Amino acid sequence: MTELGTANLGVGQGMVVRYDFEPKILGFLCNWCCYAGADLAGVSRYQYPTNIRIIRVMCSGRVDPAFILRAFSKGADGVLVGGCHLDDCHYVTEGNYRALDMVGLFHKLLVQVGLSPKRLRIEWVSASEGNRFAELVSDFTRQLKALGPLGIAEGKGPEQLRLDLEAAESYVRKKLISYYIAPDKCQACMICLRKCPAKAILGSKDQVHVIVQEKCLGCGICLQVCPHRFGAVRRILADPVPPSIPEKDRVVARPRT
Ligand code: SF4
Ligand code: SF4
Repeated sequence: MTELGTANLGVGQGMVVRYDFEPKILGFLCNWCCYAGADLAGVSRYQYPTNIRIIRVMCSGRVDPAFILRAFSKGADGVLVGGCHLDDCHYVTEGNYRALDMVGLFHKLLVQVGLSPKRLRIEWVSASEGNRFAELVSDFTRQLKALGPLGIAEGKGPEQLRLDLEAAESYVRKKLISYYIAPDKCQACMICLRKCPAKAILGSKDQVHVIVQEKCLGCGICLQVCPHRFGAVRRILADPVPPSIPEKDRVVARPRT
């Protein structure tokens, strides 16, 4: 067994990490491309490290920052978000662009709490790229081995790591991603209100709809179902959500015919 000095891993003075460290990786893979690529890697018998555990999601855009934080707080050393290549998303909402935005923001959050942004990776793998999937898991495993265990490599003890992840969680709860209905575009078709799983949308057939932010789960369904011709639902990244307009002013601005 080899021991690495502090300089190699960037750990605190006097801390030593053993080189036989096997990182735990959690992969959130989209059903249509990256998961199918992983499946192909398996049936094609491409060799790759067994460090990854996979959760299949219907779209990489479904991966919420809270899922990633949960993975880290449950002991993952790295998280992989895998989706279809850009512009190949199987949904009209282009969920992989959403995932890319989210990961970019999450990298900043990791830096903010003193963790390496290299612990979160986003990659595009098509259903026919089993070889690519095997290579990227091998590469990510190598990268995490070089980095070291979560927290220790960043010079944090378990308690400090817990506190830092809690701080990140409270930031995420304040929402990296929010949804907002533009009052001048909403045509009160009520589709979003009916589909919202959290009953977070208020409105009627004659009234501009509003999202009650405290109830909103951030699932993005309202954005997906709002008819394109209206395009009333907006996704807001990190910025504050504009206040809801008063109920008396929620008059639908119908286009003139
Ligand atoms: S993001 Fe999801 S929970 Fe929030 S208002 Fe839209 S549909 Fe409802
Ligand atoms: S689906 Fe769009 S247009 Fe219809 S009520 Fe909701 S926000 Fe308004």
